[in-house]
Amino acid sequence: MSFWEKIKQTFRSFMNGRHGADQFSMALLWTGLACYLIGSILGSIQGSVIWALLGLVLNIAGFAAYAFTIFRMFSKNNDKRNQENRRYTTLMNKAKTKQKQRKVRFNNRKQYKYFKCPSCKSWLRLPRGKGVVTVTCSRCHNSFTEKA
Ligand SMILES: [Zn+2]
Repeated sequence: MSFWEKIKQTFRSFMNGRHGADQFSMALLWTGLACYLIGSILGSIQGSVIWALLGLVLNIAGFAAYAFTIFRMFSKNNDKRNQENRRYTTLMNKAKTKQKQRKVRFNNRKQYKYFKCPSCKSWLRLPRGKGVVTVTCSRCHNSFTEKA
C-alpha cells in the first residue's frame, strides 16, 4: 500500500461514524471566511479604534464559525447535527420561497395591487382598477376596505 493510500485509509477510519460536511457546514465555512476577510480589512484601517474593534470582533466571529464547522464535521452526534442542518435548509428554503414570491409580485404589479392583511400580515392581491372594495382575508377572515 502506498503512503497516500495509507493516509486516505486512516482518514476514512477516523471519519467513520462522524458527521462530515453538510450544507450548514459549507454555509458556516463561507460566512466565517467572509467575516475573517472583512474583519482583517477593517482591522488594517489606521487610526480608528472603532474599526479596529469591529475588525477584531469579525475576526473572532469568523474564527468561531470555523471552530464550530470543524467541531460539527468531527462530531459523532449525528442526530443533533442532522437536526441543525435540517433547521438551516428549512430556513434557506423559506428565504428562497419569499424571494420567488417577491419576484412574482413584481412581475404582476401592473395587473394586480398587492397588499398585506392588516391583521395576519399575509399577502393579498386585487385586480387593478377595481376601485374601493371590501376584502375578506382568505387566511384569517378579517374584513377591511382596500382601494385597487
Ligand atoms: Zn389575514
